[in-house]
Amino acid sequence: MARRSPPETLRIVLGDQLDPRAPGLRALDASRDALWMAETHAETAECHPRRVAAFLAAMRHFRDEQERRGLRVHYTELPKDPSLDRGRDFAELLQKDLATLRPKRLRVTRPGDLRVEGQLERAAEEAGVPLEIEPDPHFIDTPESFAEWASGRKEWILEHYYRALRKRTGILMDDRGEPIGGRWNFDEDNRKAFGKRGPGRIPAPRSFTPDDVTRDVVELVEARFADSPGRLEDFDLPVTRRQARAALADFVSERLPLFGTYEDALWEGEPFLYHSRLSFALNVKLIDPRECIDAAVEALGEGAAPINAVEGFVRQLLGWREFVRGVYFATMPDYVERNALRCKDRPMPAVFWDGGTDMRCVADAMSSVLRYGYAHHIQRLMVLGLFAQLLGVHPRRFHEWHMALYVDAIDWVSLPNTLGMSQWGDGGVVGTKPYCATGAYVQRMSNHCSACRYDPKKSVGDDACPLTTLYWDFLARHRKTFGDNRRMALQMRNLDRKPPEEVDAIRRRAKTLIRRTFEGRAP
Ligand code: FAD
Repeated sequence: MARRSPPETLRIVLGDQLDPRAPGLRALDASRDALWMAETHAETAECHPRRVAAFLAAMRHFRDEQERRGLRVHYTELPKDPSLDRGRDFAELLQKDLATLRPKRLRVTRPGDLRVEGQLERAAEEAGVPLEIEPDPHFIDTPESFAEWASGRKEWILEHYYRALRKRTGILMDDRGEPIGGRWNFDEDNRKAFGKRGPGRIPAPRSFTPDDVTRDVVELVEARFADSPGRLEDFDLPVTRRQARAALADFVSERLPLFGTYEDALWEGEPFLYHSRLSFALNVKLIDPRECIDAAVEALGEGAAPINAVEGFVRQLLGWREFVRGVYFATMPDYVERNALRCKDRPMPAVFWDGGTDMRCVADAMSSVLRYGYAHHIQRLMVLGLFAQLLGVHPRRFHEWHMALYVDAIDWVSLPNTLGMSQWGDGGVVGTKPYCATGAYVQRMSNHCSACRYDPKKSVGDDACPLTTLYWDFLARHRKTFGDNRRMALQMRNLDRKPPEEVDAIRRRAKTLIRRTFEGRAP
């Protein structure tokens, strides 16, 4: 058989770059160019099996589609037996393949993980092949324009950035340049709990039955990653663009109308509530944030969803999602090293791997993480993130833990959310004050506390809610750091109102709770 000539352009497609309509792909000429993709040990080991299955299934579907288009795809599959791996990470595999494929040039869309970008650059340099890194068109803003917005500002406030983007894009703006609905923010309509009667029946997110490609992946993951934390049964995530579009349509018609109202609520045994569960499809680029925003805005226009829901959803995508990406590229590579509260570097406590605790809120959120590789935003921020922050978990460990367990975690989005928003490890870049609260927050927003053996109102005694005890201890521990923070002043004054003996008793109990939790005996 004749040997095929080396590709002119070898286009690298990473596992989170799976848009079949991407301009970079469209520009390829099947007679001269080729694609390169790889499943690697380094990106999958010790991760939640559902996360691995989701990425691999989406990647293989993408590969098959490109091959059907006539493109050559040099694709490395992970074997069931790790001893048969061709290489450990992108750098090793790419270097090997460049030696045989000898392309004229390499092209890649800017990776969402600087570590991966470094690996590709190293491999290209070793092989002497030029690597061109192109901007990622799957975001509404660019890192350069974020940097422009951020430069000269003392604080980077989401609300300011979000309004600037609304004005620039015209999203949810009227002809006079005013926000549709007359307000920028509908938060006061959007902080409702379900009340005693609970949420009633909420339509579950759409499920997708695995086809042969996905079933093969599930079998591989079950064999190769049998010891990884988390469960894989009933895999049902969207892994193709068509499925992602169907998931979006389902969200818009079934759950968007009440998305805003119950955005901050929690309810035991209800992992998705009115959330979209679109983050995986969005982050691997099966669907574009503009499509999601357009669909929500269209629902508003048709009277199918109210403004508080649509603005709330747009705020997440146009506001938070773009904002955290801007923060990532503006602050890396040193951002990942930040540890503003000087937390000790020690492994994540066992409760974050097995969910073993009597705290109903934490146990419920962990059961969702282990079952689905997912927890909704309030579980991430005000339950698991809060618990970790109050315990003094190291912010980078919290990020690494998150990267391992969540299907939607990619460095650019996980890092600012975990280390920054949730753990305040960045000292106030993403949020001007830490998200810290007593168990009363969980009590107000959920039904967890009614059946819990801990009392959110108590901070000392065997039945005191650990979140409450740890909250007061956290404030006392970081009194110096927060002393000058105006937004923490009220919380600090409340601490100062407590008699010194009570604070001592709280701190003693907190010390025991923290020690036991890190020893694997969570309350
Ligand atoms: P919905 O509640 O339906 O929201 C719609 C969409 O808005 C999401 O799909 C997501 O794309 C976007 N969005 C909402 N909030 C954020 C945010 N803070 N940052 C970026 N995008 C946002 N999101 C990730 O995609 N990957 C992560 O690794 C990730 N890590 C997080 C870690 C912590 C500690 C916290 C507090 C939040 C994290 N988030 C992350 C943000 C948010 O919690 C998830 O996007 C959301 O829970 C995903 O579920 P959903 O698709 O049902 O979201």
